[in-house]
Amino acid sequence: MDCLFCKIVNGEIPSTKVYEDETVYAFKDINPVAPVHVLIIPKQHLSSINDVNAENSAVIAHIYEVAAKLAKEFGISENGYRMVSNCGADAGQTVFHLHFHLLGGKKLNIKMC
Ligand code: 5GP
Ligand code: ZN
Repeated sequence: MDCLFCKIVNGEIPSTKVYEDETVYAFKDINPVAPVHVLIIPKQHLSSINDVNAENSAVIAHIYEVAAKLAKEFGISENGYRMVSNCGADAGQTVFHLHFHLLGGKKLNIKMC
């Protein structure tokens, strides 16, 4: 599987890891757009939200648990933060391994689209 984020999970490509367990990996975005910009991904290769189904959806709940924990650790849980997952061309998805951007540490732009 020629997937950038699978290679990051496998350690073939280096990353700044901030969290890891059996099913989830989280690392700093290489091109941060906010003081805190972490990518939280399932270790299992899912291309996007389109691949989420009844068999694999437990990892999504777990990703949100990890987000809450990391938000506390990075000191943004009180002031606020955003979780974003871009799905497909219209949303600007560039890496086709499901990921959630955890963004915070500044007043974020309110625009949703
Ligand atoms: P998307 O546009 O698909 O929602 O987000 C992809 C994100 O992956 C972008 O924010 C981009 O900066 C990040 N990214 C792309 N390549 C790498 C990489 O090799 N390492 C890390 N840490 N982040 C990457
Ligand atoms: Zn992958």
